Amino acid sequence: MTADLKNKFIIKKISNSKLQDADFSNLVFGKLFSDHMLVADFIDDKWQTPKIMPYQPLSYEPSAKVFHYGQAVFEGMKAYKDKNGDLFLFRPEENFIRINRSAERLGMPPIPREYFIDGIKELVKLDKDWIPTGPGESLYIRPVYIATENAVAASPSSSYRLMIMASPAGKYYSGDVKIRIEDKYSRACDGGVGYAKAAGNYAAQFYPTEKAKKEGFQQVIWTDSKEHKYLEEAGTMNVFFRIKDKLLTAPTIPESSRILPGVTRASIIQLANDNGVDIEVRPVKVEEVVNAAKNGELKEIFGAGTAATILPIIGLKYKDFYTDLPKQDDSYADFFKNKIMDIQYNRVEDPYGWRIKID
Ligand SMILES: *Cc1c(COP(=O)(O)O)cnc(C)c1O
Repeated sequence: MTADLKNKFIIKKISNSKLQDADFSNLVFGKLFSDHMLVADFIDDKWQTPKIMPYQPLSYEPSAKVFHYGQAVFEGMKAYKDKNGDLFLFRPEENFIRINRSAERLGMPPIPREYFIDGIKELVKLDKDWIPTGPGESLYIRPVYIATENAVAASPSSSYRLMIMASPAGKYYSGDVKIRIEDKYSRACDGGVGYAKAAGNYAAQFYPTEKAKKEGFQQVIWTDSKEHKYLEEAGTMNVFFRIKDKLLTAPTIPESSRILPGVTRASIIQLANDNGVDIEVRPVKVEEVVNAAKNGELKEIFGAGTAATILPIIGLKYKDFYTDLPKQDDSYADFFKNKIMDIQYNRVEDPYGWRIKID
C-alpha cells in the first residue's frame, strides 16, 4: 500500500456549480448531491492518486464483482457549519477505523488514512456552500468502497474503488416511529458480518422491515439469531432502553460480532458516564424490556445513529403485546441529543476532542 503524499489529490473543479438549482427548502435525506466527489482506485496492488471531480455517473462492466458478490462496504458521517461559517467533522477517525475494519472482514485492502480523512476534508472545503445551516442541518458524507474487477469468479477482487459523495441533509424527520421486536428473521449471526457496514446487511433487512411497515411499524428491533431472546439494533441505529432511570444497550465488538459499533452509541455511553446517568452495556433480554413495559417501568426507547442523531420511539410491539411510549418530561433522548449536537455545531466546549475543525 503506497500513498503518494506529495500529489495527494488531483482536483478537477466543476465548471458550473449546480448550487443555484438546488432546493434547500425541501431536502429529502440522501437524494441531492453536492458538486464534487472523491474517487480513489486500488489497482495492481497500489493506491492510485485520488481524484476530486464533479459528481457524475461512472460506468462499469456488468461483470464487475461488486454486482455479483456484494463485496462492498460504506460509511456515514456528517460535516457541520457553525454560525461563523467554520466547518467541522465529528469523530471522523472512528469512521476511518470502522471502514477498514469492515473492509478487512470483506477481504478488501485497507484505505490509506490520508485518502479518507484528508479526502473528506478537501471535499467538504470545496463544497462548503452545500452545507445548509438551519437547525439540525448538515452535509451528510457517504463513502462507499467497492470491488471493481471484471470477472465473475467468486473470489476477492483484484481492484477496488473508494468513492466519497456528499449530500445536504435537513433536520431529520421520519414522523413518529413505532417499532416491532423481530422474532423470526435475523440480520446478523455470530461470526458473520453484522459488525461491518457491509452493503448486503442492509439488503437483508429490507424484506422483514417492509413486512413490519405493512403492520404499522417503521422499524424492527433485531434480536439474536439463535434464540430471538436478546435485543440488538434497528435499521441503521443502535438502540437504548430506559427502564426506570437506568439506561441499557447491547454490547458490540468484541463481545458481539452481530452489532454495528455506532459512533453515536459510543458518544452516548461516554456522556452517560460523565453526566451521572446510570448506564449498563450488557445483553438486554426481550423479556426484561417487555416486563418493564407491563409494569410501567419502561420509560423510553431511542435509536442512535448519524442520520437522526437520536430518534425517540413512540410505540413498541412484541408478538401480541403493544405499548405506547409517551414522551417523558425528563427525556434522556432529548438530553443526549442536545449534548451531542452542541458539540457537533460548536455551541459548547468539547472536552473530548470529538469535534475536528476543517481548515
Ligand atoms: C451506521 C449504523 C449504526 C449507527 O452508527 P453511527 O456511527 O452512530 O452512525 C448502527 N447500526 C447499524 C446497523 C448501522 O449501519
